[in-house]
Amino acid sequence: MPRRPSFESLQASLKRLSLEEKQQTLEWLAQQIKTETEAEKLVPPTGAGDSSRIAIVEQQHYEGKTYQLEKRRCGKEGCVCLDGKVSEVGHGPYWYAYWRESGKLKNMYVGKRAPWETLNHKRQSVQAYNS
Ligand SMILES: [Zn+2]
Repeated sequence: MPRRPSFESLQASLKRLSLEEKQQTLEWLAQQIKTETEAEKLVPPTGAGDSSRIAIVEQQHYEGKTYQLEKRRCGKEGCVCLDGKVSEVGHGPYWYAYWRESGKLKNMYVGKRAPWETLNHKRQSVQAYNS
């Protein structure tokens, strides 16, 4: 295990800080905790068993974001998606976008079509209209 400063020595260092520095440290720490908690919530569990809520069908990188085609359990009581493997009974698959914004992990529901598929689809429709 890598050597880490003990909590006591960390406390001693923190005590030497000015009031302003202590406040800054507190804010920084709160931000760190928030970011890490959010990251844990958003990163889909890998190699999870049947209890998993998300099954990743496909993963793509597009315009600085990670897109995942996922099947999900909605979590509603009595829903068909609760009985069986999420990869089989989950809703979808639907695309979700994941990205970082000032250090925070964000995610967004995209829908049945990935953005690049929507572009192709539109292009095809336009071609069909013109021909
Ligand atoms: Zn459901």
